[in-house]
Amino acid sequence: MGSGTQALSAAVLLAVSRSGLEHSVPEVILPAYGCPDLVAAVVAQGARPVLVDTLPDCPFLDTEKLPNAFSDATVAVIAVGFLGVPEQLAVLASLCRQHDVWLIEDSAQCFPPECAREPIADCAVLSFGRGKPINLMGGGALLVRSDHRASASEVLSTLPEKALSTGWKWKARRYIFNFLLGRLGYGLLRRVPFLGLGATVYKPLLNISRVVPPEGLLEAGIRSAEQRPGIAVKYVRQLDFLERRGWKPFMANAVSEGSQAGHVTLRYGLLAPDQGARARAIEALTGKGIGANAFYARILPNIEGVPGYLRDSVGDYPNAESFADRLLTLPSHEDVTERDLAIVAATLDKITVQNKE
Ligand SMILES: *Cc1c(COP(=O)(O)O)cnc(C)c1O
Repeated sequence: MGSGTQALSAAVLLAVSRSGLEHSVPEVILPAYGCPDLVAAVVAQGARPVLVDTLPDCPFLDTEKLPNAFSDATVAVIAVGFLGVPEQLAVLASLCRQHDVWLIEDSAQCFPPECAREPIADCAVLSFGRGKPINLMGGGALLVRSDHRASASEVLSTLPEKALSTGWKWKARRYIFNFLLGRLGYGLLRRVPFLGLGATVYKPLLNISRVVPPEGLLEAGIRSAEQRPGIAVKYVRQLDFLERRGWKPFMANAVSEGSQAGHVTLRYGLLAPDQGARARAIEALTGKGIGANAFYARILPNIEGVPGYLRDSVGDYPNAESFADRLLTLPSHEDVTERDLAIVAATLDKITVQNKE
């Protein structure tokens, strides 16, 4: 597909088609903390996003609050993997089965997707955009579980098909991106305006197309992702002292269980004790040349352009809000060195002390 957002929107299209819903606006359930592209993908299919709070100190759906979000118009739940860590798909799948709706695995930030291990979700979405585990400078994929093959291909074949151009302009952009990523790190890269990276703004999705990539491109992208060293585990070790000071390494378990989770993520995330400490940490780390950032920084209802599309005009999402306020993400691409890790640890060490005074 043309992008991860397009692939996600095509997934919503499939969920709407199989629901047979005719007289009401279809609804799709998403976490209240997430990428505004999730909203755009849903809206592009004439469906309405319904937000659910996350678990405490975690970006995943609160499965106790989730049942209240279902209605007769619900067609799907989107399970969004975060920084390389997959959602709790098995739990979500059993809720989806009870309500006869689709479970869509958004694996834009995780590779390989969980569905490669076990076919829990009805379909899964990959992104090949900049800053994603497999960087092809754009594009995405929709993987549909084989029991849905016939019905899905009928719907998907109606989408226009384009050839992906990888001419010299594409190669130059890719070269510049990789060069700057090595030099500046992802944090500073976000400030390079022409890259349009990581901006937390709502952008409507206007076109959806299938894309035929040049032969070998995807395989090359996967190989280079798999060869990338996993830095998240080193962060867990370097920063474990912060836990005694009120920081929460929410990715630590997933990353260190020997699983592949978090392995090919480009960022390592942890939660500061409060919003002020997070702000001081970003400032201090940026001053040391480390590309730290707050990632999305706010929950979806607080992103300009989003609230008008939501089913519920008022909503209470305390856990998601606290997560958005406290999340600090650190670069974990292949150019992060042991020395960088030591600088991060020393810098955050001072932040906490300052916080206590
Ligand atoms: C980046 C991202 C998308 C959108 O992918 P694009 O290829 O940028 O359109 C969707 N979901 C999540 C969780 C993402 O991180």
